[in-house]
Amino acid sequence: MNKLPVIAIDLGTTNCLTAIYDQNAHQPSIIKNKNGNKITPSIIQFDGENIIIGDEAKEAYEAGDVGCVTAFKRYMGSSSCCAYIGNKEYTAVELTTLLLKYLKDNVETVLQQPIYEVIITVPAYFRHKERQATLQAAKNAGLKVKMLINEPTAAALNYGIQHFRKNAKILVYDLGGGTFDVTLIEMSKENQINCLITKGNHILGGKDFDKCIFNYLVNQIYYDTGIDIKEYSGFINELMGRIEHIKMTLTNASKVKIKLNIPNYGVYRTELTNQEFENITSHLLDKTGVLCQDVLDELHYTWNDITDILLVGGSTRMPQVSKYLEKISGHKPITQVHPDEAVVLGAAIQSILPAPKYNVLSASSKPIANKNAIVQKEKPVTSVSAMRLNDVQAHPLGMIAVNEEGTHYINQNIIPPNQSIPVKCARKFKYYTSAQKNNEIDIYLLQGIGNIFDCEILNKYVISGIRHKEEGSTLIRVQYSYDVSGIVHIQARQEQDECDLPIREEPVPKDMSMFAKPITQNPDNQTTYVFEILDTSGSMFGEPIEEAKKAMIEFIDKLKGDHVYIGSMSVSNRTIITGNLTNHPLEAKQGIKKLYCGLGGFGNCTHPFDTVYKNMHALKGRRIAIILADGVWSYLEAAKKAAKRCIQDGIEIIAIGFGDADYDFLRSISSSDKNAMKVHQSQLVKSFGNIAQTISETSHSKFNNNEETKTWEAIGEK
Ligand code: ADP
Ligand code: MG
Repeated sequence: MNKLPVIAIDLGTTNCLTAIYDQNAHQPSIIKNKNGNKITPSIIQFDGENIIIGDEAKEAYEAGDVGCVTAFKRYMGSSSCCAYIGNKEYTAVELTTLLLKYLKDNVETVLQQPIYEVIITVPAYFRHKERQATLQAAKNAGLKVKMLINEPTAAALNYGIQHFRKNAKILVYDLGGGTFDVTLIEMSKENQINCLITKGNHILGGKDFDKCIFNYLVNQIYYDTGIDIKEYSGFINELMGRIEHIKMTLTNASKVKIKLNIPNYGVYRTELTNQEFENITSHLLDKTGVLCQDVLDELHYTWNDITDILLVGGSTRMPQVSKYLEKISGHKPITQVHPDEAVVLGAAIQSILPAPKYNVLSASSKPIANKNAIVQKEKPVTSVSAMRLNDVQAHPLGMIAVNEEGTHYINQNIIPPNQSIPVKCARKFKYYTSAQKNNEIDIYLLQGIGNIFDCEILNKYVISGIRHKEEGSTLIRVQYSYDVSGIVHIQARQEQDECDLPIREEPVPKDMSMFAKPITQNPDNQTTYVFEILDTSGSMFGEPIEEAKKAMIEFIDKLKGDHVYIGSMSVSNRTIITGNLTNHPLEAKQGIKKLYCGLGGFGNCTHPFDTVYKNMHALKGRRIAIILADGVWSYLEAAKKAAKRCIQDGIEIIAIGFGDADYDFLRSISSSDKNAMKVHQSQLVKSFGNIAQTISETSHSKFNNNEETKTWEAIGEK
């Protein structure tokens, strides 16, 4: 059995086209619809039980019939309903599913064979959610998407096959019915089309030019007749249906005569000149001009560096478009390309090309095209299958992370804009595990530029199943990627594991305001230093010292973090440091394990505060000494004096007593009354846990998320 062909679908806001690569003729060809038309309008009419799609729906729409839905592609990616018909709500995905099913049936009828795999074109400026919605609609329609391809890139591929000029820089200006995209393409080697950068506005297209005419007429009618036609909904529908025709007439004529039958008024005549149309829509062209300039600026290009301007999309037929572009660029746009067909033909060409390989991101991955390379003579590509396409994804990918200073949440960039796709990038996190709770990491992925709230929050991902590590911390490798269709994927692995950790998606909380607030009230004191000091005199022998050490270890588990340094000390007749300040939990625990009864003698002839002062005085950050004692020390006055010096230096002293330690003694050496506490031996572990909790609530633990690491095979990669 023959392999089923891959069908190309240009799924436009206004119009759709389908095409197939004809292996015999060695060229792509359009598959006409059952009415023999190349273009199928993206219009659906709900007429009672009947659902009418395409040409017939457009006729109904132009006649002002009710139940017609147009331009729903603009709502792709949004979960809200975009049409409400006969008590039923339709989302953009549902409407697109109907349209795709219709196109599929059409192609199957014409080709007389089933189809399954397709390439669908999307605006280059579509983000993850819009792309995902497109895939969902295709799946619902029983289609498998080989890839989504950016419309301007597809058009450039089609153009490039016939007019290949090595080193040419082509600006693709794509103004369709609902979206505008501008893409800069470079032709390189003998057969390569590289997309360098793309920008766009997905709510700017022919529909907006229609709206200008509509508003112009509403005002004109009001001015001439005093009638506000917005009050006549039936008439509005009829007028809306005629606007596009008025606009198209102006493409080939210098003016259009308009005759309307206004309710309660009668026949009304007016006209619209080409010049007037140009005037009332010039702000829209200016918006496109700004984006073109942005594209040039970002690559440090000027219009002189551009070889050609390629016009794509039905709206580029409006004469003011070429006029405007020539005025701002000094180039006459190319006219060899069919503005409606270029996109779908390019997609059909891509259907026979191999999928591009993953681009693994490192610091300076972006190849900057050599803008000064001499443009070679035109030479059509002889073997289409040798053609190669490198597309880009316009939107940078980032995640919510903590800034370097640990004071604020930021959008940490992961994949910069305009990287060749598919692309992957991996990051390494140090994660502190716990034996008590689920070890999970929340990741909020962002798409866009600027701070968190300027971006689209794509999803909340929860990485779970992280194994607890005795040494306290573990490395988690997270890989972010854009696949060939520009869809975001995330995978995570623990240390050198070969299998992925489970990742679940959770709804993004409605209230994200926590990420707008500073992380701590005390931004200067980011690092926390703690000495755990244990009375190791004779009275501690047996169970008390074991319970105390358990509590001190529990404290490390509760508080550990990259910026938390913990040390240990014994106090008896002498003061001995058993563990230096360290942010490695394992090392800190080893310090505790070295404590034993009788270390430094069996009496209580000294105090630890001079050693505390000496070791903490010069440190910047939060400094805490926690003392655990079971009785009153011999030279209390000296201890109090030395404690005071520490407190005046800003060191917090927490004194915990059990056994014979009395509360007044504890109060006299601690930095505040609430830092003095008398507890029962059996509550020691709990008390240390509570203290750790209180400390961590007033500081903040952060990821080390700047490290890059090797990537591994990405999703979907063969
Ligand atoms: P999309 O890709 O968004 O489906 P198309 O590329 O098919 O859109 O372009 C459709 C838009 O082009 C519509 O807004 C339509 O009014 C406009 N258009 C098509 N032909 C002409 C024309 N001759 N003059 C002016 N506008 C036109
Ligand atoms: Mg289009």
